[in-house]
Amino acid sequence: MELDGHTLLVSGLAMRASFAVVFLAMWLHGRGDPYLRDWGLGAALIAAGFVLVLATGASGSYLAPVRGFLTYGLIGLGLTLGWVGLRRFDGRPVPPALVAVSTLAPPIAYVGILAATGAPNFALAGVFAAFCVPCLVFVIDLLAAPGHRRLASRAVAATAFGLYLVGFAAAAFVSLQEIGPDQPEVGSDVVVLAFDHFACLFSNVALLALAGERARAELEWLATRDPLTGLLNRRGLLLESSRHLAGPLSDRPPLGVLVADIDAFKLVNDHHGHATGDAVLTRFAAMTRDLLGAYELVARYGGEEFICVLPGCGLEEVRRMAERLRQATEREPFPASDTSLHLTVSIGIAAVGPGEDTIMPAVARADAALYAAKKSGRNRVVS
Ligand code: GH3
Ligand code: MG
Ligand code: MG
Repeated sequence: MELDGHTLLVSGLAMRASFAVVFLAMWLHGRGDPYLRDWGLGAALIAAGFVLVLATGASGSYLAPVRGFLTYGLIGLGLTLGWVGLRRFDGRPVPPALVAVSTLAPPIAYVGILAATGAPNFALAGVFAAFCVPCLVFVIDLLAAPGHRRLASRAVAATAFGLYLVGFAAAAFVSLQEIGPDQPEVGSDVVVLAFDHFACLFSNVALLALAGERARAELEWLATRDPLTGLLNRRGLLLESSRHLAGPLSDRPPLGVLVADIDAFKLVNDHHGHATGDAVLTRFAAMTRDLLGAYELVARYGGEEFICVLPGCGLEEVRRMAERLRQATEREPFPASDTSLHLTVSIGIAAVGPGEDTIMPAVARADAALYAAKKSGRNRVVS
């Protein structure tokens, strides 16, 4: 099968234009995330660069300085916008100096080297080397962005832009070797264009996957969290706790459950207003979260009712933890508009039984114990 450069240029242009439409449509119809706009404009600018290359005519030749400056400027800006979009995706600042270098290096390299040496292949080598800058920054940001959630598609995208980097470096090297009167024409470097096809498709699909994976993660987070306190909600607690009940019965460590309900909470709302009630709930949630370890689950189960699931804890360890929570609540000055409030909490505790494969029976027992704690005077732990 013969591949020809002109056809590859046309289909490379069509591919970029399609990705531009997809990203820009997602940007317009979604929440207006600026990274989608950057990725769409980036693809559109590279497509515009391809139009300029194609407009040199079918005979093909190296681009004249002005056309070369425009073409490689458009492609450089397109690649840079891709990386700028990733910075916005990660909520990181965009260093203007790096944007300027990454955008201007390809066109300046082309015109500068062409003027200095008169050798278009050297100029093209400079362009390819300059294209490595945004690709390298892309890979570094994908792999090393501080504090970023581990999305699997980050590694896929890093591989895609790593391939681009290797491809541009190889193209720069090959261009340097092309000496003499038989210099290849524009669009005739079929291997470079075919590689560009593969890398373009791979990298843009990886960016789509990155956006999709994060949207899914955000939805999952929203579906499993309580919006007021940021704790797990009922669904999140059931999902998370099921992981602790997945192994064979014989290997399962004990699992303790406590259900805590703030005493006379309705009075907080009645005397200080709903906003103060919300602030108390938020403070109680944070206090409970701080008291427990990272592997222990804390959920807001209902209005002022919280559930903790304690892996590795039998009934006595749960009792000790519940007592610590009860005492911490007694000591805590909860915020109110002009004063601080002193509250208490009643806690029911239970342990997941040997044959139980959800926490629900233990939650029901802890709930019954909580009811007993309320009936017997509140501010106590009952099993
Ligand atoms: P007990 O000691 O028996 O638990 O009494 P209580 O007042 O704490 O319990 P009760 O069930 O009578 O009242 C709970 C109150 O919690 C009633 C409801 O308005 C309030 N509440 C539920 N969810 C929220 C919320 O998200 N914010 C605020 N501010 N109040 C809430
Ligand atoms: Mg209550
Ligand atoms: Mg209650």
